[in-house]
Amino acid sequence: MASSATHHPLFTSSLKLPSPTNPISKHYLLNPKKLQSFYLFKKPHFHRFSASPSAVATDPSTAVDKNLAEDAPPVEKVVLPTNESSNKLLRIRHTCAHVMAMAVQKVFPDAKVTIGPWIEHGFYYDFDIESLTDKDLKKIKKEMDRIIGRNLPLVREEVTRDEAQKRIAAINEPYKMEILESIKTEPITIYHIGNEWWDLCAGPHVETTGNINRRAVQLESVAGAYWRGDVNKPMLQRIYGTAWETEEQLNAYLHFKEEAKRRDHRRLGQDLDLFSIQDDAGGGLSVLASKVAVVRNIIEDLVEKRIPRGSRYESILYSTLCKAKDLWEY
Ligand SMILES: [Zn+2]
Repeated sequence: MASSATHHPLFTSSLKLPSPTNPISKHYLLNPKKLQSFYLFKKPHFHRFSASPSAVATDPSTAVDKNLAEDAPPVEKVVLPTNESSNKLLRIRHTCAHVMAMAVQKVFPDAKVTIGPWIEHGFYYDFDIESLTDKDLKKIKKEMDRIIGRNLPLVREEVTRDEAQKRIAAINEPYKMEILESIKTEPITIYHIGNEWWDLCAGPHVETTGNINRRAVQLESVAGAYWRGDVNKPMLQRIYGTAWETEEQLNAYLHFKEEAKRRDHRRLGQDLDLFSIQDDAGGGLSVLASKVAVVRNIIEDLVEKRIPRGSRYESILYSTLCKAKDLWEY
């Protein structure tokens, strides 16, 4: 942030606001430098108030606002690899998706498989299956651990389109058939796990399931997801997992994820009674508490009076959104 802004008269004037008892509200409301970055010029420092999962995973040192981290216990720094920085990690995550799908079909033989890519911190896979619970996830993870422990090889096979169709028909996997139709090139590649489960896939994977450290894998959550993201298509169950090269990396990721949750401005703001989020207004729309509205009005008033016209800072207008038109009709 430019030093000229820091020394602007606005920020040396004494705001006669009550002393905050909570250190977090101090940072939000009274630190002039914070006001500068938070209110006036939302650009570079705005995101420091929320620790996004991506920041957590790629660079723990930027995971949390340093001012907010003062009270946190010291944490040993672990620089986590990413899918881009570690091909090994990417292969582990991709293989985990298949291992999980195999495990799901062992635990729930009627489940139909769809797709399962690697993602930023792990992997997911969508299944056509009854609603799953946390208890089900535990069973699935246990089965995954068994598959990993058996050190089964991942074997690539190339087949013709006709052969792939025949094999998919034989195991009655309608979603897989649809995926096959969307693959335009031949040959079709199949990956086997041992000789008891296979999936359509282009790779890459680890050589054997034993290359996955089962203590570095965790199933995180399950959520509904429409097939192909289309509300007119069946609702599937998406299981999210996280996977790392080592247990140490997993623990570091879980720690930073927990810290990010603790600092989540959506929760903090409501806990501190700074704003509320009301379903009637819309899930992502915050309604400022009256005490915050007072501060905002003071700041707006000061900005209007003290920032010289023609300076590098310009006022902007913003829209007030609401999800339902009829809320404005009272
Ligand atoms: Zn694969």
